[in-house]
Amino acid sequence: MLLKGRTGLILGVANRRSLAWAAAKAVAGEGARLALTCRSERIEENVRELAHEIDHPLILRCDVTQDADLDRMAETLRRSFGALDFVIHAVAFADRDDLTGRFLDTTRAGYHLAQDVSAYSLTAVARRVAPLMVGRDGSIVTLTYLGGERVVQNYNVMGVAKAALDMSVRYLAADLGPEQIRVNAISAGPVRTLAASGIRGLSRLLSFHRAHAPLRRNTALEDIGNTALFLVSHLSRGVTGEVIHVDNGFHVLGLAGLDTES
Ligand code: NAP
Repeated sequence: MLLKGRTGLILGVANRRSLAWAAAKAVAGEGARLALTCRSERIEENVRELAHEIDHPLILRCDVTQDADLDRMAETLRRSFGALDFVIHAVAFADRDDLTGRFLDTTRAGYHLAQDVSAYSLTAVARRVAPLMVGRDGSIVTLTYLGGERVVQNYNVMGVAKAALDMSVRYLAADLGPEQIRVNAISAGPVRTLAASGIRGLSRLLSFHRAHAPLRRNTALEDIGNTALFLVSHLSRGVTGEVIHVDNGFHVLGLAGLDTES
């Protein structure tokens, strides 16, 4: 029981395929007490059903673009848990129109939306929960993707948001380190989730990964859950400001597939 007596907040459970749910199962299995957030009433029903599988999590409604929701979330956590040991932030959004064609055509509104939900929200959450984490060897983990480091066709505005998110991890790690709060990101290989299905060509992306990643497999939900568990546990006590790639090694490739047709 790596996380017995520890409490955590997980943002971004939509359904059983969510990376946040994989993380929730992994950390709950090691004894953590959890609060899960969801954005809408519609999703809240799903989350309440899933919640039966873990030990009585607190369920909170929170749209990360709304300061009032974030304030209410932090206050409920303070009243219910008193203190917080970790946060797993697995939230992102961009307009579907901005996940195809040319990045050049991104509108101002589309750019702001992707940045607000997918990058700024980490800082907005961290600022509110950090006071609850002081003196507890706290850990904050977010989910990112290779499209924030290199050009991945169709990832477009979300890639630029992930680049901002990756850099936010480093600045937040520097700011919160003196309070013994660590901040890291998991760069996940592609997994078919609700959010990922908005990316044009996802099926081809998945088969390209399976064919060419050094480990010749797709990223499994358990791979993400287990790395999240590592990052919120004392096992990673010396790790902060880091982006850990959980993508079967795909990120080390320069060019691949030269020996196949097309
Ligand atoms: P997912 O299951 O669809 O989760 C995305 C979550 O973001 C949903 O719970 C969604 O809630 C939430 N969300 C969107 N806008 C929000 C807002 N304004 N306020 C609060 N929550 C909001 O997809 P996922 O793939 O697991 O995504 C989780 C994270 O992993 C994202 O950061 C994603 O970029 C990252 N990631 C995914 C992959 C992949 O291949 N799947 C790879 C690398 C990184 P609603 O459903 O209510 O909108």
